[in-house]
Amino acid sequence: MVFSDRALEFLAADDQGTYDHLMPHMEAWPDIKIVHRDEHIPIDGTGFAAIGRLQLLMLLQERARDLGVEIAFEHAIASPDEFADADLVVGADGVNSVLRRGHEKDFGTTVGQLDNRFVWYGTGQVFDCLTLTFRENADGVFCAHHYRYSPTMSTFLVECDAPTWRRAGFEAMDDAATRAYCETVFAPDLDGHALVSNKSVWRNFPLIWNDRWSAGNRVLMGDALRTAHFSIGSGTRLAMEDAIALHRALGEVGGDVSAAFARYEEIRRPPV
Ligand SMILES: Cc1cc2nc3c(=O)[nH]c(=O)nc-3n(C[C@H](O)[C@H](O)[C@H](O)COP(=O)(O)OP(=O)(O)OC[C@H]3O[C@@H](n4cnc5c(N)ncnc54)[C@H](O)[C@@H]3O)c2cc1C
Repeated sequence: MVFSDRALEFLAADDQGTYDHLMPHMEAWPDIKIVHRDEHIPIDGTGFAAIGRLQLLMLLQERARDLGVEIAFEHAIASPDEFADADLVVGADGVNSVLRRGHEKDFGTTVGQLDNRFVWYGTGQVFDCLTLTFRENADGVFCAHHYRYSPTMSTFLVECDAPTWRRAGFEAMDDAATRAYCETVFAPDLDGHALVSNKSVWRNFPLIWNDRWSAGNRVLMGDALRTAHFSIGSGTRLAMEDAIALHRALGEVGGDVSAAFARYEEIRRPPV
């Protein structure tokens, strides 16, 4: 996961404890870079920090437990009706949110997807900063978003448009053939390192939008509410900011759930 510098400053201002808990584990760099036609172009003033997704989840779980949150695992919520007795139900259950799907009309949900295809790998090649690399072959143009998330590993996300994806013949390729193809395209950048698969399949980015953010005592946040493209490295930041804003709104209105939802939207709609 990458976070822009600004996002972590925001976390420091609102939740110093979580900021202090995460910060020592982040990889950070002051610049980003674009590689185009073999030219390496640094762009300064755009600091980023990164951390492996699993490590971030572990650290957040530790922090939640320290604050007295009871975490339940291995229980898939089948329907929002499981919470019929609750005062407040927060749908923070991601892109395929059960809460949102249970109330699509009330939320005014729109679901779509972008045309480009992307596949998400790791690699042992350690990059010095967040980099957007463009490479071209007879099938078309490929773009890789890559950055290190630990001292020994980097994320390597490959993206291309739909016609390029078809010409390359990915539909008929298995995991090993797909990796081999991408390793050839990005050979100058991988410097002999392999791509590492983790259930890596080509996907289309889902677009989620909701006209209304709450329905009765139910409210959405994070990807359940709206997705943010991975290229801006902000989905997790937006989800955390949503949670902070809802918490603040509930504090301000003293437990009146509909007033809190109105305040939550007032705080969050402009930045979203
Ligand atoms: C390829 C890619 C790269 C990305 N890179 C970045 C990045 O670099 N930086 C960044 O900030 N963001 C990135 N994002 C976006 C980021 O992953 C999401 O925006 C973020 O995880 C949203 O957080 P969330 O808590 O809303 O949802 P999620 O992280 O999806 O969490 C939802 C949780 O709900 C649980 N859940 C779902 N359904 C049920 C159910 N029925 N019952 C019980 N539990 C359930 C899930 O198990 C999960 O724990 C990326 C996304 C993609 C696809």
